[in-house]
Amino acid sequence: MNNWEEPLRGARVVVTGGAGFIGSWVSERLLDAGAQVWIVDNLLTGSVDKIEHLFGRPGFAITLADAGHSIPDPGGVDLVMHLACPASPVHYQRRPLETLRAASEGTVNALELAARHNARFVLTSTCEVYGDPEEHPQREEYWGHVNPIGVRSVYDEGMRFAEATTMAYARERGVDVGVARLFNTYGPRMSLDDGRVVPTFLGQALSGAPLTVAGDGSQTRSLCWVEDAVEGLLRLACADVAGPVNIGSDHEVTMLELARTVTELTGSESRIHHVSLPADDPHVRRPDLTRARVLLGWEPEMSLEEGLKRTALWMEETRSNAPLRNLSGRAASPKVLAGTDSE
Ligand code: UDP
Repeated sequence: MNNWEEPLRGARVVVTGGAGFIGSWVSERLLDAGAQVWIVDNLLTGSVDKIEHLFGRPGFAITLADAGHSIPDPGGVDLVMHLACPASPVHYQRRPLETLRAASEGTVNALELAARHNARFVLTSTCEVYGDPEEHPQREEYWGHVNPIGVRSVYDEGMRFAEATTMAYARERGVDVGVARLFNTYGPRMSLDDGRVVPTFLGQALSGAPLTVAGDGSQTRSLCWVEDAVEGLLRLACADVAGPVNIGSDHEVTMLELARTVTELTGSESRIHHVSLPADDPHVRRPDLTRARVLLGWEPEMSLEEGLKRTALWMEETRSNAPLRNLSGRAASPKVLAGTDSE
C-alpha cells in the first residue's frame, strides 16, 4: 500500500456509476486499498460483466438504482466517487435526456448524500468542458469553447453544470469536494460497441475490417491507460485539493497515427477507410498536467503501445468468450441494498 492511499483503508465509499468502464476499475482499486465499496448503478451503459469478479469480496455491495432519480443511503459514508453518466459520444447522443438527468439531478443527489454524511465528494468531470478548445494544451484555467445547443451539449453542458453545482455545494454547504477532468481513457472493460475510437479501431483491426478514420484523421486525442487514470482519481480523493485537476495522458496523437499504430501492433492487414467527421468533433485535445503533477504527485506511466497491446489481448479473450454473459444465471449474486435507508 502506498502512503497516499492510506486514508482509503476502512473508508466507506459510494461509487455511482461503479458498473461502468472506469467505475469498475475505481471500485476494484478501492477494495484493494481496504475500502468498503457500495456501487450505485442503473446499468444503463454499465454492465455486470465489468464487476462480477468483485462479487463476494469483503466490503463489496451494489445497489441497482438510478442516481438521477435517487441514491439509496447505505448509512455512514466517508467518500462519494461520482461517475454515473453516459460518457461515450454514441451513448450520450442516443440518450440525451437521461444524460442530462444523470449529469444534473444525479450530481445533486450525490452531493446531497455527501453533505448528509460530511463525506468527501469527487466529481469525475471531463475534458469535454473545454469543448473544441481554442487554447492548447488545455489548462484548468481555460473556460472552454462549447456549442451549447449541439449534439454533444448534453454531455458537455451537463458536466459544466455538474462542476458548477459541485462548487456551489462547496461554497454554500461546505462540502469537501474534488473535481477531476478526465481526458480520453482506454483499456480492458470498455464496451466493445460504444463507438469510441480505441475499441472501434482494435475491433476492426482484429477482425480484418477497414479502420473507420473520421474526417482526414488529423484531429488529435491524448489517450490514458485506465489504471493510470484511476490512480489519479483516487489520489485526488485522498488529497486536500478541490481542483479542477486534469487527469489524462499528455501524449498526443492524430487519429490517423492511432489507426496506423493499431494496425501495426495487431499485425492487421486492415485498410483505412475515411468516414465523415461527427458534428462538433474537437480538433485537438491534450491536457496540461502541471496541476496533477504538482498537487497530486501523479502522472501517467503506461506507454500507448503497451496499453493498446494489453487492450487488444483483452479484446481477443473477450471475443473468444462470446456471447457475453448477462445478469441471468450467475453463480454469485450481488448484495443489493436497493431501498435501504438506514438513517
Ligand atoms: N473516431 C474515428 N473513428 C471511429 C471512432 C472515433 O476516427 O470509428 C474519432 C472521433 O471522430 C474523434 C476521436 O476518434 O475525433 C475520438 O473519438 P471518441 O468517440 O473515442 O471520443 P471523443 O474524444 O470524441 O469524446
